[in-house]
Amino acid sequence: MKRIAILGSTGSIGVNCLQVIQRYPERFRVMALAGGRNVNLLAEQVMQFKPEVVSVRDKDSKTQLKKLLAGYDIEMLQGEQGLVKVATMPTVDLLVSAVVGVVGLRPAIEAVKCGKALALANKETLVAAGRIMMDMAKEHGSAILPIDSEHSAVFQCIHGRDRAEIQKIILTASGGPFCHRKDLESITPDDALRHPTWNMGAKITIDSATLMNKGLEVIEAHYLFGIPAEDIQVVVHPQSIIHSMVEFVDGSAMVQLSVPDMKSPIAYALSYPERLEGVIERLNLSSIGSLSFEEPDLERFPCLQLAYDALNSGGTMPAVLNAANEVAVHRFLGKDIGFMDIPRIIKQVMDRHKVIPDPSIENIFVVTEWGKEMAWKLQ
Ligand code: MG
Repeated sequence: MKRIAILGSTGSIGVNCLQVIQRYPERFRVMALAGGRNVNLLAEQVMQFKPEVVSVRDKDSKTQLKKLLAGYDIEMLQGEQGLVKVATMPTVDLLVSAVVGVVGLRPAIEAVKCGKALALANKETLVAAGRIMMDMAKEHGSAILPIDSEHSAVFQCIHGRDRAEIQKIILTASGGPFCHRKDLESITPDDALRHPTWNMGAKITIDSATLMNKGLEVIEAHYLFGIPAEDIQVVVHPQSIIHSMVEFVDGSAMVQLSVPDMKSPIAYALSYPERLEGVIERLNLSSIGSLSFEEPDLERFPCLQLAYDALNSGGTMPAVLNAANEVAVHRFLGKDIGFMDIPRIIKQVMDRHKVIPDPSIENIFVVTEWGKEMAWKLQ
């Protein structure tokens, strides 16, 4: 029996994760859940999965949850402290981190320090502090298991392989909803929130539209698999059937394919190294017909280039890119700035940052705050 805690249980990854768990009650037990402000759904999840601990974003949400769960015997927590407590519970074997943003960093670090397996959907953890996280995981014997579909694909393709056999990684990108749109300046939040193949939260949907999502994934892949930036390529593949590929030194490549359903990488991370039966719909290639590929346009989508630039600068720069992006996306969703202002603001913040080459975790938190502050100020 694997004992699981989920950070971000009411988001799209969290909900999918609980659906997988629900199908395999003999394999998994939910020990703790942490949600944001969707307390109604969180209360339902608590009643269904009966965890020992539940955590919410703030005091108001806690008051509401208490009312919904009146008479229920459960420990209730809140805020970052709550996330850390959930992440480090002695009875938990595997932590699923599916919160959005850099708020996931502290609990992920603490979980790894306790030697827990970490199933990571929160990209920002590895983007902001990739080297520190990977070193720490090694030191404490903690496995980091990717939930992102691309990284899960790479993880599956290289399973049992030696690093020396790998030539490069090719991450696939759906291209987002604006792949072929001419006028990018006039895009509104409503336009951007309609994603063609994946149904996700607002932040990641905007990141997909700007291609920053792919940029963050390039950075994540670099740290997770130890592959240099120049050997990580991106190819646009609108059908989202091939989730990524690995090319080996002999020119042979391996790909991982499935229908686009997040339950697939979630189930693999939960059950690794085993595979669960009947998690997603079967792939029917003849009904799909054809798969297509094209080069990403780095001039029209500068966010992807900025991510490569941040990775090449190294040190604290990816954390700054990530912090500036979080704020820029927030401002775009609030209609404070335009779609193409997102990369403009991120670039300005990066230009102003003096890189700390070998940062401590405290450095990462400080530059993250600085990057956010700058991104709020700039126009
Ligand atoms: Mg992805």
